[in-house]
Amino acid sequence: MTKLLPTSTAGSLPKPAWIAEPEKLWSPWKLEGAALAEGKQDALRLTLAEQQRAGIDIVSDGEQTRQHFVTTFIEHLEGVDFEKRETVQIRKRYDASVPTVVGAVSRERPVFVEDARFFRKLTDGPIKWALPGPMTMIDTLYDAHYKSREKLAWEFAKILNQEAKELEAAGIDIIQFDEPAFNVFFEDVQDWGIAALERAIDGLKCETAVHICYGYGIKANTDWKKTLGSEWRQYEETFPKLQASNIDMVSLECHNSHVPLELIELIRGKKVMVGAIDVATSTIETPEDVADTLRKALRYVDADKLYPCTNCGMTPLARNVARGKLEALSAGAAIVRQELEAV
Ligand SMILES: [Zn+2]
Repeated sequence: MTKLLPTSTAGSLPKPAWIAEPEKLWSPWKLEGAALAEGKQDALRLTLAEQQRAGIDIVSDGEQTRQHFVTTFIEHLEGVDFEKRETVQIRKRYDASVPTVVGAVSRERPVFVEDARFFRKLTDGPIKWALPGPMTMIDTLYDAHYKSREKLAWEFAKILNQEAKELEAAGIDIIQFDEPAFNVFFEDVQDWGIAALERAIDGLKCETAVHICYGYGIKANTDWKKTLGSEWRQYEETFPKLQASNIDMVSLECHNSHVPLELIELIRGKKVMVGAIDVATSTIETPEDVADTLRKALRYVDADKLYPCTNCGMTPLARNVARGKLEALSAGAAIVRQELEAV
């Protein structure tokens, strides 16, 4: 993009109350069949209009057509039995009943490609589309088939690559892989996590991104954050390897978090989507709060590589709060953009 500091969101945004219960994760659909299909398209129109009205430069589908950022993708694959459930620990944090991998995993048909084609027709501007990352996918399943985290992640990486190539063909400009698991399984990241991510982006010509965060503002995550101490140095473990990887952009959490911003220096050269909006609170940032975070980040990111963003998805927030935060993001970015252009 030629515009300095183009704004975007990490991915999910609140859904309208008529399609799913608001302020809730995993909220079930209120519609079904043809009404649901039409409702999803209307939700895509709405989220686009809200992002455009708030001045967001790189828009997203707001994950309006998915119930959950990982599970909805896996539901479309073969080899996973959703009836057969086991309890596992998600990201070493909380127990959850998860589906079982019972055979070879494969993608018989596209997952989000139709949604992407529909969304592409609604705007000429750049679109970012998020997919779950391979490591985060395996962390939400019980594997009774491959019995190897690495092997299963590799199979998912191949599947994600098929989906990503079709999203690219549908006109998506940036494809992002969500890897919150990168902040937890450091040895796996070193051993095979980055390799799996690079397999997922193999051969793509559009821009590629990875989003690594400390999660939605739900209780399990906020409780976990309390155990991390005063300095969150998790990025230090993964950034050197990411810096050396083929990924174009890194989306990370900065605002109100305990991440020492100098860690961003470790990915110098990459485009950095700097989280300047806290998603774990309903307090709406002022434009000056946002500007302040961006100015601090500018010490470690070249201005032409800084992309103001949210810390994570905003799906559990009230719609008016999310709208306010998007407006603050745009206004804060505008302040710093003006300062940069005045020099
Ligand atoms: Zn996130």
